[in-house]
Order: sequence, then C-alpha cells, then structure tokens
Amino acid sequence: MAKYKILHFRDRCIGCGSCVAVCEKYWEMKEDGLSHLKGSKLQKGADETTYELELDDPECNIDAQDVCPVQIIKVKNNN
Ligand code: SF4
Repeated sequence: MAKYKILHFRDRCIGCGSCVAVCEKYWEMKEDGLSHLKGSKLQKGADETTYELELDDPECNIDAQDVCPVQIIKVKNNN
C-alpha cells in the first residue's frame, strides 16, 4: 500500500489555480474551470465528489494542501 493518500474534494473547488501554481506536476485546470489531481480516481461511496491518488512521496502536494484557500486538498498518511 502506498504511504500517502492525496484527497481532492472537488465540489468545493473555487478554481483559483493556486494548487497548479505550486504543484504543476500533479495539478491541472480543466475546461469547467476547476482543478484536477492528475491520475486520481473518483472515490466510490463518498458523500461528495472526492478524488484520490495514492503516492509513496507526496512531493509538492504538501504545498498544494497548504496553499488551497478553501482547504479541500488533504494529504493523509496511511500509516
Ligand atoms: S487551490 Fe484549492 S480552490 Fe484553488 S484550484 Fe486548487 S483545489 Fe481548487
């Protein structure tokens, strides 16, 4: 199992682009004006639209978590 899980609660994204600015390797803006966590999967059974990506090294997703003004990016340690 990967060490970290990156979560994106996309319904609450305001499209500010900050995550892309600090972590372009993992984040991109989509046609609907909201960001997307590259390579992430839609989490089944979640109450809201949640995307998740498992990584051994969260890299710049820590910065994306810190910079998001609405705090909808979460880096969770699986251990
Ligand atoms: S920083 Fe947060 S609100 Fe801004 S685009 Fe990224 S996920 Fe959306």
